[in-house]
Amino acid sequence: MDLSGLLYVVGAVGVVLIGLVAFRFIATFDLNKWQERKDKKMQVRLMNACPHYLVTLADNDGKGDVKIQPLYVTTYGTTDWFCTQCRTVFPGGLILPQKPRGMKEVEALIKQQEEFQKLARKAGVV
Ligand SMILES: [Zn+2]
Repeated sequence: MDLSGLLYVVGAVGVVLIGLVAFRFIATFDLNKWQERKDKKMQVRLMNACPHYLVTLADNDGKGDVKIQPLYVTTYGTTDWFCTQCRTVFPGGLILPQKPRGMKEVEALIKQQEEFQKLARKAGVV
């Protein structure tokens, strides 16, 4: 192989390398955007799925009362509330989700919580 042949090979390898770097840059850029969109979508799904209440059974023997605790808290110095589970922000003055009444609504809430847990596991949040 003479010098011009060697230069040709070096040039070809260089072009391929530059091409690979450019392709890699475009691929990672798109992937990041795509992941960002996916995360945002999942966050909205989690917010919609969240019951914003936690139902716990007071005793293990089943005789105790059912405890229903709201998951939203207010932060010091603001009038806003936010859910500690899904991070939904309820601006101050807005009516907060109502506490469930009656067994039917409580059962629905427990079911909703299970759905939320499933979704959160899928999203890798839990
Ligand atoms: Zn919530």
